[in-house]
Amino acid sequence: MTICRTSALPYFRLCASYIQDRDYQIREPSEPADNGSATHDLLAPHILGVDVDFGAILEQYPDADRAEVAKLFAFGKSAWRRLSAFFPAPQTEIRLESDLTAGTCDVLGRGWLESVGDLLSVGDWKTGYRYADHAWQLGGYAYSARENFGMPDSGTIKTVTIWLRLGEIEVRDWDDQKLDAFAGLVRAQAKGIGSAFNPGEHCRFCHGRNDCAARDDWLRASHAALVETESTDLAPETLARLYPQAKALRDMLDQYDKALRSTVAEVGELQLPDGRKLVMGEKTYKSVLPREAWPILQSEFSFSDLDMARCLKMSKSEVEKIAAEKAPARGKGKAKVEIMARLDSVGAVVHTKRQSLTVKKGDPK
Ligand code: SF4
Repeated sequence: MTICRTSALPYFRLCASYIQDRDYQIREPSEPADNGSATHDLLAPHILGVDVDFGAILEQYPDADRAEVAKLFAFGKSAWRRLSAFFPAPQTEIRLESDLTAGTCDVLGRGWLESVGDLLSVGDWKTGYRYADHAWQLGGYAYSARENFGMPDSGTIKTVTIWLRLGEIEVRDWDDQKLDAFAGLVRAQAKGIGSAFNPGEHCRFCHGRNDCAARDDWLRASHAALVETESTDLAPETLARLYPQAKALRDMLDQYDKALRSTVAEVGELQLPDGRKLVMGEKTYKSVLPREAWPILQSEFSFSDLDMARCLKMSKSEVEKIAAEKAPARGKGKAKVEIMARLDSVGAVVHTKRQSLTVKKGDPK
């Protein structure tokens, strides 16, 4: 059978042809991808106890967002403090291969632990959101780990997924029975490679998406379904049924918008069919720098403290950052909590609730 890239297993589970052989690969530079790679590059030496040069690693990823990577790295380090006990003699970036899957795991721990005995653990950092059930990916690592090192005396291989963005940790234990069942499912799914297609939201990660007839049909049907839906027929079931299709169409429109903007920026203008022209407009927005403006507003324009307060918006994260900078090395977290609690006690903190649509794990249909 075709050996599946371990990281592709969650999507292969959804569509057998996701891993069909193709003579091209789509590689798009992106901020999330660079954030992910930079965070992995920072965590790998950290786990081995090697000093990390944050700036030097970030330089290799021009699309990465420094603040975002710093946040992901910080949660990774804090998670590792709690998890390191389950990874005796940790190794990073270890290739695990078997007759089913091949891939590089982020952390591997092998050794003896007082409370558990002989232990084999695999850790996987996730820097993105949860788009698919990743159990198969972890199953792939555990299966290959068993093939490479054998089942430890404890009778289970532990896999740990650390969702850095979500601040969540998922632990799974794989015994022989679970791993054999997993291998059976993968082999059964592999029979559909090249013949079974299951289009859906996951298509946007697929290298074959631009020449997949099944995906084209699904998108056409999605468009038709949305157009045909009467605005009066917005029953909960209808809205739920259309969600993945609407999302796929929105992603397509986002891609179109990105291409349009970069083309107009490159060629200057585009002639529209009705004779109008599409050009890149530019607007200048002004902002006032508090440090430079502060003395002038008070001395020359008599701004009172209340006037100043009306002009300023305070950043909670900057307040916490400065509190942490002023605190001793081991008291930074405590300083952040204390300063927010004190401000809260005098009514200086506003608690605002925002609602956003979030997709949560449920029972697969
Ligand atoms: S584009 Fe979608 S349906 Fe087509 S092979 Fe890829 S995942 Fe499957």
